[in-house]
Amino acid sequence: MTEHRTRALVLRSYDQRESDRIVHLYTEQLGRVSVVAKGARRSKKRFPGKLESLTVLNARIVEPRRGAIARLEGATLVEPFEGLVQPLGRYAIACQFCELLDRLAAEREASAELFEFAMGVLGVLRSDPPDRLLALLLLVKTISRLGYRPQLASCAMCDEPIAARDAAGFEPRHGGALCPNCRVGGGLMTPGGLLLGLERGLRSPLRGRAELNLGPDAVRRLELLTDRFFRFHIGIELRSTAFLRQSLPLAGGSRLSARSGPQISIRTSQDPP
Ligand SMILES: [Zn+2]
Repeated sequence: MTEHRTRALVLRSYDQRESDRIVHLYTEQLGRVSVVAKGARRSKKRFPGKLESLTVLNARIVEPRRGAIARLEGATLVEPFEGLVQPLGRYAIACQFCELLDRLAAEREASAELFEFAMGVLGVLRSDPPDRLLALLLLVKTISRLGYRPQLASCAMCDEPIAARDAAGFEPRHGGALCPNCRVGGGLMTPGGLLLGLERGLRSPLRGRAELNLGPDAVRRLELLTDRFFRFHIGIELRSTAFLRQSLPLAGGSRLSARSGPQISIRTSQDPP
């Protein structure tokens, strides 16, 4: 029997049987892990904040034996979820972030960097007004850290730097940007400046996003590229996306559909939260 004491972010939780709760956690020491909180629906003392998603805990996790689900034996509250549920747009972005970690982070692969990134993200979400650019940058920063970083500043085929004035392209199956030469015969036409704007966004803190000068039209176009990239490389539909886009409307526009494809890992990034 092994015991771990670790900070943990609740990604998702749901009832099991009469009194238990299954809790999906992203932890500092174990990475993503699912645990059962026995009797959680009766004992509010042992499990504060009802183990709601977005709560940060100091968790005591016990692993009974190989192959059995770990048990959450107790938890103290570090940060309640309440600061993240209003307004609705903020809650929607936070839900999408949790869904990304819950569905894409490797199980039992601890990453102190990813955990600190998650804590930084919650801090930004608590204090910043939510908007679609924040949602977009957070999504791309998060998938980049999980191994799917689009190549934006240079051509994914010939490595030629992309210039702002280029009639460049974007092709998920090649990994991102295409220079005007390589775009011939394929790839969605995309101004080079837009790709470089997203690259700057990935390299800058989320709080500095106003300085990127990416208005609603640029955000909408970047969402189309990101949707295609996400579907091609990750190939799942996020349950939270429709909710997010309803909660944080962006005037006009329509979304392109894209083929889904095999999961391939491109490269990871350490860009700031
Ligand atoms: Zn090229």
